[in-house]
Amino acid sequence: MLLRLHPRLAPEQLQLVLETAAELGLHGTFEDANRSLMRLTGEPGPAARSRFADLAVVKAVLEFDDAPELHERQGRADLEVRIGEARFGGGHVAVAAGPCAVENLDRLVEVALAARNAGATLLRGGAYKPRTSPHSFQGLGERGLELLAEARAVTGLPVVTEVLDPRDIERVGAACDMFQVGARSMGNSALLSELGAFGKPVLLKRGIAATVREFLLAAEYVLLGGNEQVILCERGIRSFDTTTRNVLDLGAVAHLKRATHLPVVVDPSHAAGRSDLVRPLARAGIAVGADGLLVETHPLPHLALSDGSQAISEAEFQGLMADVEALVGLDGRTLSKPDTSRAGATPVRG
Ligand code: PEP
Ligand code: MN
Repeated sequence: MLLRLHPRLAPEQLQLVLETAAELGLHGTFEDANRSLMRLTGEPGPAARSRFADLAVVKAVLEFDDAPELHERQGRADLEVRIGEARFGGGHVAVAAGPCAVENLDRLVEVALAARNAGATLLRGGAYKPRTSPHSFQGLGERGLELLAEARAVTGLPVVTEVLDPRDIERVGAACDMFQVGARSMGNSALLSELGAFGKPVLLKRGIAATVREFLLAAEYVLLGGNEQVILCERGIRSFDTTTRNVLDLGAVAHLKRATHLPVVVDPSHAAGRSDLVRPLARAGIAVGADGLLVETHPLPHLALSDGSQAISEAEFQGLMADVEALVGLDGRTLSKPDTSRAGATPVRG
C-alpha cells in the first residue's frame, strides 16, 4: 500500500500516520527524502483504505490493490444468489416484477400471477413506501406485508419488498425472501449494518446521486455484517435533464460486473419513469451484462396508487420477457423460470 502525504508535516502528524498503520498491523517506511511518500508493508485488511483516506495529512491513497474490500471481485467467480427459482449471477438471469406498492389482495394476486405466467421468478411490491412527499400514499405497512405473504402462498413466488426502518427488519423479514433497500435509504448505514446481521438477501438500490464508490461502500456495510447475499441495483441517477425520470447508468453496470463479484440488476422502471421506455431500457440492461431486472407492472397502470406512469401492463411485460429470453440466450446465459405447478388458487381471505 502506498500513501501520498502532504509535504512538510509536523512530527506529530507523521506520528499519527505511523500509529494508524501500527493499529492496522502495518509498518510504514518513507520512499523519498521529503517524507511525502509512505509505503506500508504487512497485511492490510479491508479497513485500511478508508482509514487512511480519512486522515487530513494523507493526500491520496495511491495503491490499495493489496487492501481488498469485501465487495471487490479479486479474481473471484460471480456470486450466485438464489431465491426460490430465481438465480442471479454466475450466468443466471432472473426477473422480479410487480406493482410499485401493494394496494389490495385481488390486484396483488392478479399482478403476481400475470408476472409469473410471463416468466418472473420474484414478486416485487412495497408495503412501506419511501415517498418524496409525506402527503403521498405511504403504503399499507403491516397490512401490505400480510398481503404479500398471502400472494406468495397463492403463487409460490418469493417476495422482495422494501424495509425503511431498522425497527421493522424482523417484521419485514418474516414476510419477505429478499429485503429491498431503496435509493433514498442507500446511505442509511445503521439499516445496512442490521441487514448484514440478519442474513436474508438484500437488494441494494443505488442512491439518486450516489457515486459508484459510495454505492459499493453501502454494500460493504452489509457484507461486513457477515451477509454475503447482496444484489446491486442500478435504477438511474439524477441529472440536469428531465426527459427521463433518471439517467440509467449502463456504464456503471458494465463497470460493476468487472469490479465486484456481486450480482447486478437493472431497474428500468425508475430509470425511465415512463412505461414506453421500460422495455428498451430492460433490453439495454441485459445486453450490458445485468444479472436480472426489477420491473414495475400493474394490471391497470392508470389506476395505480404510486408510480403509475412507469408501470407496464401484462401484455407489455410479456414482450419484455421475450426480449430478455432472446438476449440471455445470445451470450449463453440462462433465464430463471418460475415454478408454475402451483395453479394460483383463489386466495384465502382472513
Ligand atoms: C421502488 O422500487 O418502488 C422504489 C421506491 O425505488 P427507488 O428506491 O429506486 O426509488
Ligand atoms: Mn416505484
